[in-house]
Amino acid sequence: GYQKVLEENRKLYNQMQDLKGNIRVYCRVRPLVGQPNNPGIIRNVEEDSISLIMASKNGKEVKKTFTFNKVFGPSATQGEVFSDTQPLIRSVLDGFNVCIFAYGQTGSGKTHTMSGPNNLTEETVGVNYRALRDLFYLSEQRKETIHYDISVQMLEIYNEQVRDLLMTETSNKRLEIRNSSHNNGINVPDANLVPVSSTADVLNLMNLGQKNRAVSATAMNDRSSRSHSCLTVHVQGRELTSGNSLRGCIHLVDLAGSERVDKSEVIGDRLKEAQHINKSLSALGDVIASLAQKQSHVPYRNSKLTQLLQDSLGGQAKTLMFVHISPEPEALGESISTLKFAERVSTIELGAARVNKDSGEVKELKEQIASLKATLARVK
Ligand code: ADP
Ligand code: MG
Repeated sequence: GYQKVLEENRKLYNQMQDLKGNIRVYCRVRPLVGQPNNPGIIRNVEEDSISLIMASKNGKEVKKTFTFNKVFGPSATQGEVFSDTQPLIRSVLDGFNVCIFAYGQTGSGKTHTMSGPNNLTEETVGVNYRALRDLFYLSEQRKETIHYDISVQMLEIYNEQVRDLLMTETSNKRLEIRNSSHNNGINVPDANLVPVSSTADVLNLMNLGQKNRAVSATAMNDRSSRSHSCLTVHVQGRELTSGNSLRGCIHLVDLAGSERVDKSEVIGDRLKEAQHINKSLSALGDVIASLAQKQSHVPYRNSKLTQLLQDSLGGQAKTLMFVHISPEPEALGESISTLKFAERVSTIELGAARVNKDSGEVKELKEQIASLKATLARVK
């Protein structure tokens, strides 16, 4: 009785998730530096909505509320932020492709979410490290039935050029993105693909990647905020009894800063960078929006970023976007444009009123779940 109802409940829940689509948008607001108790322009942080102070009229705050799949306020820990992405990590071992993005203006906390702060501790490690730790942990749990090989690539896209961050000698070699179906699921076959078997291996690689990124950063005036970095984990599983194999991967992407650059004020290299960033972020927005709207043509080919991620966006793949907001009043303009981007890529409506946009089908499933829950309570 009880088990069966529970199972049914779970099945319906999964079905509902599928109907809602495989694209989720989470919002994270970082604290004001050095002032953890000052909310800045942020108000009413709820589980799935947040308000910004848009203006002040006659001493009264004019607020606007935005809704997401999930909101993490300034006091959310790295662990809390990661906990909701755990099911995605699990699905990589089941053979799914997953993309997790950090989006936002420079200084809004993208690198904090993905990599963590400079002084890493058990508590402060970011999504990247936690994802790999989970992959090792879960694959170990399954080792009686499936053998997993896990390997890692780390790439940088700067001015529409792909570079290997796991190179052991300095090189400016530009890498080609190829059709992964000819390459065993590997998109950039010329980049180092490094097998890993422990979190210590992963930390070493992340350090190498960071170092390779830093080398170019000093030469080019904080290039890291103007390039995308992508940590890709490839997972290959072999079922021990049947010999069947499966393949999954996860891309963990720290995007270039989304701030708009006043074109009248920049020239030369800076202008070229700004144009490339604009192009790739809007190409990403276009791809996700067309997937969310289930359009038949998806414009993957408009940027290196979307080409690189092509077989992990859409289809059975799952996408999670962390949009980052700074609470400083000066950041308001950028925060609004970040929220507009989030609105474009999201299947949920962002707006003042929290409207229930569920389709009839979802509504029906919700009712069924409610009635199953009632049954469950009785069986208990
Ligand atoms: P970005 O990568 O978007 O440019 P960073 O992750 O480098 O931004 O964050 C900018 C600064 O704010 C860093 O000093 C970082 O440590 C700090 N910071 C960002 N998010 C948080 C947070 N959630 N909690 C505490 N400090 C944060
Ligand atoms: Mg950063």
